[in-house]
Amino acid sequence: MSYDVIVIGGGPSGLMAAIAAAESGAQTLLIEKGKKLGKKLAISGGGRCNVTNRLPQEEVIKHIPGNGKFLFSAFSVFNNYDIIEFFEGLDVPLKEEDHGRMFPVSNQSKTVVNALLKQLDDLNVVVRLETPVKAIHYEENNHSVILRDGTKVQTKSVVIAVGGKAVPHTGSPVHMIG
Ligand SMILES: Cc1cc2nc3c(=O)[nH]c(=O)nc-3n(C[C@H](O)[C@H](O)[C@H](O)COP(=O)(O)OP(=O)(O)OC[C@H]3O[C@@H](n4cnc5c(N)ncnc54)[C@H](O)[C@@H]3O)c2cc1C
Repeated sequence: MSYDVIVIGGGPSGLMAAIAAAESGAQTLLIEKGKKLGKKLAISGGGRCNVTNRLPQEEVIKHIPGNGKFLFSAFSVFNNYDIIEFFEGLDVPLKEEDHGRMFPVSNQSKTVVNALLKQLDDLNVVVRLETPVKAIHYEENNHSVILRDGTKVQTKSVVIAVGGKAVPHTGSPVHMIG
């Protein structure tokens, strides 16, 4: 088994990374240890998903606790307005609430999750659920992703998107992949 890109973790970061990779023509595998994709996303924003913010990016960065300036570089590639355009392009209309907060018009985070899942499907991303990744062996342009059952999957590029530690039942890692 060999892929151009393997994305580890099926939260919003991994879903977006897998979609971006597949959009640029990469044969992409998304690996998730849980039974479902986007579990934390589904409970976000009180089940409504505060998708992004419509304020100018300087304002958004100003409100990041600590030094939000690290976001300038990421925003130069894909910013809060690109997120709005991306979801509206997937037929997920958004509405603005107080302080520029953007929510799906449906008021349901599952609208956002389902749109991402459909896009994965449309782009032929291969998805493996209930498949924890145990280790990654890095080599020049040909890395091995080792699954818990010992299977090795080869890939040219790997994206690690296993999330943070909040709400462990959504799949947050106790130990990072070693
Ligand atoms: C209650 C709550 C409400 C929130 N509300 C909002 C909101 O309204 N708006 C907002 O922008 N943000 C919100 N957030 C924050 C947002 O949910 C997180 O920032 C986001 O989920 C992080 O995405 P992620 O893809 O990095 O990680 P996660 O969503 O944590 O996804 C990581 C995935 O990786 C998988 N994984 C971990 N280890 C492995 C492994 N070894 N092998 C395979 N898979 C693995 C996990 O099972 C999980 O599915 C909220 C968070 C919480 C807890």
